[in-house]
Amino acid sequence: MTPLYDRDQAAIANLQKLRFFPLAVTGGRGAKLTEENGHELIDLSGAWGAASLGYGHPALVEAISRAAANPAGASVLSAANGPATALAEKLLAAFPGAGDNKVWFGHSGSDANEAVFRAVTKATGRSGVIAFVGAYHGCTMGSMAFSGHSVQAGAAKADGLLLLPYPDPYRPYREDPTGGAILTELRQHLELAPEQFAAAFIEPIQSDGGLIVPPAGFFRAFAEICREYGVLVVCDEVKVGLGRSGRLHCFEHDDFVPDILTIGKGLGGGLPLSAAIGPAKVLDCANAFAMQTLHGNPISAAAGLAVLETIEREGLAQEAERKGQRLRQGLQRLAERHPLIGDVRGRGLACGLELITDRQSRTPASRETAKLVYRAYELGLVVYYVGMNSNVLEMTPPLTITDQDIDAALEILEQAFDDVTAGRVSDTVLADFAGW
Ligand code: PMP
Repeated sequence: MTPLYDRDQAAIANLQKLRFFPLAVTGGRGAKLTEENGHELIDLSGAWGAASLGYGHPALVEAISRAAANPAGASVLSAANGPATALAEKLLAAFPGAGDNKVWFGHSGSDANEAVFRAVTKATGRSGVIAFVGAYHGCTMGSMAFSGHSVQAGAAKADGLLLLPYPDPYRPYREDPTGGAILTELRQHLELAPEQFAAAFIEPIQSDGGLIVPPAGFFRAFAEICREYGVLVVCDEVKVGLGRSGRLHCFEHDDFVPDILTIGKGLGGGLPLSAAIGPAKVLDCANAFAMQTLHGNPISAAAGLAVLETIEREGLAQEAERKGQRLRQGLQRLAERHPLIGDVRGRGLACGLELITDRQSRTPASRETAKLVYRAYELGLVVYYVGMNSNVLEMTPPLTITDQDIDAALEILEQAFDDVTAGRVSDTVLADFAGW
């Protein structure tokens, strides 16, 4: 019988592939995935953060099955439905913004960010937006237009886009680890053109850009400056929201409230679901303006409700904080033994490990990173890399991952580092896996 991975190679388009090793999955349970040959792997990526409750969580299975057995239509476009309304109410209750807020539903982080981009420019009459170098807000034309990630280098950018450097404490812009130089530039741009910018899109942890945790207080100060000039702050928590950072919303760490929040990935727990939460004056600015047939699908919405209820019931945000510390402590111990590791960082269960060739130059160790994830896969661990230099391991496991799986993952990583450092992983393994 032809192996699943080979059938996939023959049948599924490369346009949507971002492969690091020949993973071919047939099932999953908890934080583990199973391959055709019975090979079990710990998923330290959590399907890029989408598997918030892990695989096969009973609450999710129950909610989806119930919704599918008696579906309340298929969308919110032309009818109200119970699960979408209840989910919107729950998201509004959990959002600390003082204003008159509403919820918009989508399928992906890309469509949520794109809808917000179109709505803020329409509602304010301002055409410009601010975002960051390294930002990944999506892969549709609209969301790429205000992203700053190198993987999208050829994509058309929005007129009036201002990309600022992201504050990276490990690689500070203009030698300023507080990010102050970036805030000065923001102010200068706004003073020059005070009415130009509708919104600033921020990631409270820059994920695909390298799992970069900004300096404390940076985004609070950033948001204050934006507010002075009437620029709406849109916080993209598609990857790091909903408990992952150790708080329900990642912006809570920095003690500010954005005007608009976008979430996705983990919200659906593996089903397509995203949301934007923000002022009615923006999200009600037009009818039939940002919609797709299955938006507000009651089955996805039921999954979203089950995810939020489970995060609450199982205390998963607090658990993410505790488990993240356990994971980072293990990574720190690894860093003491392996000079390939330049930096260990993260919040809660969003952790990054930056690999460098040497600690003086901090040159990104991109090839070693690619070999590392390949070797980890062979040893039973799924972990991918991110970053503008493809040299940061990103760990966003299910919030339900057990301590035992964390410890086992650390052991595998240790072995993989030993093997890569000792030259036991050949260059040939990289030939078929371009990653990004
Ligand atoms: N925003 C952020 C912060 C993301 O990390 C991603 C995906 N990596 C997106 C938006 C896009 O989400 P999606 O792939 O679901 O469209």
